[in-house]
Amino acid sequence: MSTPPPSSIDNKNGSISALQSEGAFQTLVESVRDYAIYIIDPHGYVVTWNLGAERIKGYKVSEVLGRHFSIFYPAEDQEKTDWELQVAKQEGQFKVEGWRLRKDGSRFWADIIITRLNDADGNLIGFGKIIRDLTEHRIAEQKYRLLVEGVTDYAIYSLDINGYVTSWNTGAARIKGYSAEEILGRHFSEFYTPEDVAVGLPQRALKTAAEEGHFAAEGWRVRKDGSRFWSSVVVTAIKDENGRITGFSKVTRDITDRKLLLDEIQRHAEELELRIAEREQTNAELEAFSYSVSHDLRAPLRAIEGYASALDQDYGNTLNEEARGYLHEIQSAATRMNRLVRDLLEYSRLSRNELPIRPVHVRSCVAIALKETGEPEASLSVSIPDDVRVSGNEQTLVQAILNLIGNGLKFHKPGERSHLEISAEVRGNRVRISVKDNGIGIAPEHQARIFRVFERLHGSEEYPGTGIGLAIVKRAAERMNGSVSVVSQLGVGSTFSIDLPKSGSGTA
Ligand code: ADP
Repeated sequence: MSTPPPSSIDNKNGSISALQSEGAFQTLVESVRDYAIYIIDPHGYVVTWNLGAERIKGYKVSEVLGRHFSIFYPAEDQEKTDWELQVAKQEGQFKVEGWRLRKDGSRFWADIIITRLNDADGNLIGFGKIIRDLTEHRIAEQKYRLLVEGVTDYAIYSLDINGYVTSWNTGAARIKGYSAEEILGRHFSEFYTPEDVAVGLPQRALKTAAEEGHFAAEGWRVRKDGSRFWSSVVVTAIKDENGRITGFSKVTRDITDRKLLLDEIQRHAEELELRIAEREQTNAELEAFSYSVSHDLRAPLRAIEGYASALDQDYGNTLNEEARGYLHEIQSAATRMNRLVRDLLEYSRLSRNELPIRPVHVRSCVAIALKETGEPEASLSVSIPDDVRVSGNEQTLVQAILNLIGNGLKFHKPGERSHLEISAEVRGNRVRISVKDNGIGIAPEHQARIFRVFERLHGSEEYPGTGIGLAIVKRAAERMNGSVSVVSQLGVGSTFSIDLPKSGSGTA
């Protein structure tokens, strides 16, 4: 069953005709408090006046009836009154917002509708005026506008739905170089580079903002003088209460300085990478060179050593003291050179060869290394739990430990034997293998450089060596995804440690 039309209710209870009477309507209008509703005659003289009009404008009915409506207009708008009525007369309605005067001379912001009133024949009999006091709204809006306008670090402006500029703040003027008068009404694509305009970027920005609510990007924009700046932009769609898009707001920041700085950093990083690559290339070439030189030196060296010892054995007793002295010099020089060549080859082999990484039993490695030094295990303290395994390469780890033990024994205080403590401890997912001695120690300023090739702190008469041993340890540790470090005090002793991944905690 559908709801009966109003006329049928009317017929049943007979009250509608009463409601439709002018008296009822007038009562309603008169009692409205939030709107000033009144009628003026065709010449603008007030004919009726409701409660809202009295409240908003401050005049009582008796004070205002028969007076011209221009009394509500400030001096600067007096000449507009005739024109407004003219428009309402011709168009049927006129809408405007503006400052109006109360009886006490104070102003209020009015939202006004003037409607033409006709008699039954369509002749003009006057105008209805409906006015809302929007002063509070207006003040809030103005405060907000002043706030936005005063911002200087951001360009904040609005666009109509087609992208034409409708407002412009101080920041926009400062960043883009246009004054408000110059740019209002112009299309925002003027701020884009010709390249971006050609690929339709301005339209895309509005389309994305319309579809997704906002659009954010960084890019080059053009100032009035043609110069470019790197901007960070956010475009937001502005919607009315029905969700229809009425325009867009744009907030732009000039971040050229940041961009240039980032570009500079990027350029430096690229340059650095290039240099590192060049250096790596040079290093690789040098290593290849030293490898082949060392390799090729071995045959003539062996010949020198062999012939020198043959000479010594076969003709040693026929030589005089001086000649034998020379021969021994040749032999020990050849031995030194042999050691050097061996170490150099070992060092370059470490970077050239593939290193198979497997679980390695640390205690066994130490035992093998000790055996090679010929040092009885009893002369040192070894404290390595039997179950410690690292992820590494056995041969390489033995070599590294051997070098550390060799150094520990070698760099003893004059006239003393060094005591060595070899230990291993698990630290989280790493294992630290340490060789501690109570030898001569190393001054802090030298502790970093001793890991470089050929860096020695002593003459070979004092402590013989090639200066490659620690470089081998360092490279060995790194090839096994580990590292090496030293803690030392001059005259007290040193502890060298190799840190390696614990077996089972990653690679092997
Ligand atoms: P080498 O032992 O052949 O001289 P290394 O590369 O093994 O070369 O060591 C470089 C230098 O570091 C040594 O010459 C020495 O001066 C110093 N050094 C190494 N180990 C120790 C140590 N345990 N105690 C004191 N100094 C050491």
